[in-house]
Order: sequence, then structure tokens, then C-alpha cells
Amino acid sequence: MHPEAAKDKRVMEEKGRSEDKAILGSHPQEALTEAEWNGDWDVIVVGGGVIGLWSALYLARSGAKVLVLDGGTSQDCCSMGNAGLLAPSRCKPLPEPGRIREGIAGMFSSSGCSPGVSFGLDPDLWGWLLRFALHCRRSPFQKGSRILLEMGLQSLELMEAEFGQEEEPFPAREGVLYPYFQRMAWVRAVHQVRSRQIPGLEAELLSPGEAREAEPGLAPSVLGAVLQERDRRTEPERLMSRLQEALHKEGVRMLSLTRVYALDAGLRGGVQRVRTTCGSLRAKQVLLAAGSGTRDILHSLGLWLPLRAGTGWSISFSAADPVPKRGMLLEEARVGITPWAGGFRVTGGLELSGREKGIRRLGLQGVLRRARSLMPGLDYSGRPRIWRGNRPLTPDGLPVVGRMPGAGNVWVASGHANLGLTLGAASGSRVAEAMGGFGKEPIHALAPDRFLRD
Ligand SMILES: Cc1cc2nc3c(=O)[nH]c(=O)nc-3n(C[C@H](O)[C@H](O)[C@H](O)COP(=O)(O)OP(=O)(O)OC[C@H]3O[C@@H](n4cnc5c(N)ncnc54)[C@H](O)[C@@H]3O)c2cc1C
Repeated sequence: MHPEAAKDKRVMEEKGRSEDKAILGSHPQEALTEAEWNGDWDVIVVGGGVIGLWSALYLARSGAKVLVLDGGTSQDCCSMGNAGLLAPSRCKPLPEPGRIREGIAGMFSSSGCSPGVSFGLDPDLWGWLLRFALHCRRSPFQKGSRILLEMGLQSLELMEAEFGQEEEPFPAREGVLYPYFQRMAWVRAVHQVRSRQIPGLEAELLSPGEAREAEPGLAPSVLGAVLQERDRRTEPERLMSRLQEALHKEGVRMLSLTRVYALDAGLRGGVQRVRTTCGSLRAKQVLLAAGSGTRDILHSLGLWLPLRAGTGWSISFSAADPVPKRGMLLEEARVGITPWAGGFRVTGGLELSGREKGIRRLGLQGVLRRARSLMPGLDYSGRPRIWRGNRPLTPDGLPVVGRMPGAGNVWVASGHANLGLTLGAASGSRVAEAMGGFGKEPIHALAPDRFLRD
């Protein structure tokens, strides 16, 4: 057995002891036939997270023979335990003007008191932070926000076209609530709503009384709230399951617990073989949608992208009473609270680390403490399910979607940071169009070669 395969088997066995599940495991998988192992796939998609699945769906609809490979379990997949907000109104890059004043280290903090960055002597991390700081300027922020907003709105339309207005996976149109507790932040939010109504994304300002009527569990200190009616929410696990169903119908093959550890270059520069822990496969094109794992796969080709993992957590209480009436983002506390499985889910944390496997108690406790103090009307006494996810982050706050320079048939769709669920359908449809050669390149500003240009 290949050493990588043996290592993966050990990890899977360890994980098998917990209630963790393979990502592509919610639908029966048939083993590949010998002909499929030996044949040429039109596209191999590496990564069965939300970006990989949407991309595979549109690729299959354009007529391609598609195989999705995923190496992990739900603990490795950022798309599984997150807040599930589909929020075009919050589509903006992470590097914002003012972030430097606020302290970039403080931003990547889950505990709310200490930096969530292990600074150490990691030159790559320092280089990444420097690039991030250089993007905390008005002009790249405004340009990035326009691109992300357009993608967010397109994504919602695509999702609604795919799943209709069904309750599943999207609950009724209830909007998302953004409550505020600090005067400066509330004044800024009011100013933004009054001065910058975006067509199709009109927001309503709620007084403290109206905010608590909309969400009775909020602390009495709430100063007001913004209700974004167009933003929606889903339970991420249900959305992923619906996507897998759609892929099955399109004849897409999916293999879980199959990790890609190397890409072999062919004579003409592109990738010829995809090496996995279960065997090697041939593909005409390869799409790397492996979230924060994308960078390691590129290494095997001697290629690089400035992707880092930003770790966050969710703490899910099933079957609780009362439950929140709608999805909520407490922006000052950087905490999300959403209805989930008859209970609710608290999410938060953004630590620039991602390498260590343990769950940092300090960060988790910080997220929960802030949720309790701002939303005391919920019952936090049950035994929660704890999850950790690694967001794929780029230093300019925009996803990387496009062809990888220096490797003709390798494409990338990653770096969706806080917005993977919100942007997934648009990213998937754009990369599929470009890979299918239908003339449209994904947006120039998202192309991987932008990092080689600056
Ligand atoms: C706490 C938290 C809350 C969030 N809330 C929201 C939200 O409300 N709304 C929103 O839009 N976004 C949210 N996000 C962000 C969102 O979860 C991510 O942007 C999104 O899931 C990224 O999707 P992805 O497909 O790129 O990566 P992933 O979901 O991580 O999928 C990548 C997949 O690739 C696989 N993989 C990795 N390496 C390999 C390899 N070598 N071989 C084979 N497979 C491999 C992994 O197993 C994984 O399944 C949140 C994130 C966190 C952490």
C-alpha cells in the first residue's frame, strides 16, 4: 500500500471512532469499474465541498464526463458545519479600509482578546499578512465588493432556479437579521442603509423594540437591527445533500475517502495523471476545488498560490427550545446564530492557523461567551456538537477562479473565505463555462495569475 494511502487509512480509522462521516457519503457510491479507472475523464474535480459540487454540476450539464474526488470527512470540509447564510448583502472582501487601525492581529482572533495568529517565524505567513495589509485600501475594497456582490446575487438566482422556492433546502423568505450593540457600529450601519440602498437588496431599519420583537432572545442592550429581506439561509448539510442528489441525476461519479496527493505533469506541460490514495487516474482537465487543501496539491506541481486556512467553529444545539426565528449575524462580535435541526447553531472564529488538528478551547469559548451575552434568550445547556472548519483565504479577499498559469489543463476554484456557500453557484457556473471553452473567461480579477502579477 502507498505510504500516503496507509496514513489516510489510519486517519480514517481514527475518525471512524467518532460520528464523523465521509463528505460524499450521503448517497450510495458505486466503485469505479476497471474501464473507468483506466479511461480518460473529461474533468476530474478534486474536492467535494460546495465549490467542487456546484462546479461539477455545471460541468456535467455542459456535457462533460465528470469525476469528483474527496479525501476527507465532514471534519475536513468547510462546507458542512458552517452558518449557512446566503448573504449577498455581506459580499465584501475581508481586507477593508480601517482594518490596519483596528489591528489585523485582532481581526484574526476568536477569543476576542488575543490574536488568532501564531506569528512565530513563518515567512510565508508574514508575506501573506503584508499582502493582506496592502489590500486594506478603499479602491481595491470597492472594486472587490462590486465583483462579489454581483456574484452573490447571481448565485442566489442560480440556487433558486435549481431548487425552486422549496422549503428544502431553503426555508421560507424570512430574511437575515443584523443586530447592533455598539453605538459607532449602529450609526455606521444606519448611515450605510440610508445612503447606499442597492437595487434588489433594500434593507429595513428596526428600532430596539422592533428588533426584539423580530428576535425575542436578543439582549435588552440591542440598539437596533438591519433586516435584509433578500438574504437567505440554509442548513449547509442539507444543501450539500441536495447538490449530491442533483449530481447523481446528471451521472457524475463521486468517490469519497480518495485523497489526491500528487499531480503528474505530462510532456506538454499539463497534468497527465492524478495520483490518489486509491490509485491513479487520467483526465483531460483537472479542477482543484479542495478549499484550504488546494495549496498543498499545487505544491506537487511546483506551483504556488497564497492560500491560507482561516479556522472557525460551530457549536450546534439540536432540538432546543426556544429557537431563533431567522438567521442572524452579530457583526461586531463576529458571531452567527442560525436555526438548525430543530435547535440552533452558533458560529464564529477566524484564526490564521489551520494546521493544528485540535480545537482551541480559548477560541471556542470566546465565540460561545459572546453569543450568550448578546443573545441570552436561548438555551445553551444541551450537549452541543462541535465542529471546526478551515476557510480558504486569499490576501486580497477575492476567490481564485480560473486557469492555473504554468499548467495548461489545471484549473482552480478556491479562496471563497467567508462566502463559499453564498458564491458557490456563481463560481461553479463561471469556471464550468470557461473550462468548456464557451468563450467566457471567469472574471479577470479572480484569475490565479493576479498573484504572479503583483
Ligand atoms: C465558522 C464558519 C462559518 C461560515 N459561515 C458561512 C456562511 O454563513 N455563508 C457562507 O457563504 N460561507 C460561510 N463560511 C465559509 C464557507 O464554509 C467556505 O467558504 C466554503 O465552505 C468553502 O468551500 P470549498 O468547497 O472551497 O472548501 P471545502 O468545503 O473545505 O471543501 C474542500 C474539500 O476538498 C477536500 N480535499 C482537500 N484536500 C484534498 C485532497 N488532497 N484530495 C482530495 N480531496 C481533498 C476536503 O476533504 C474538502 O471536502 C463559513 C465558514 C466557517 C469556518
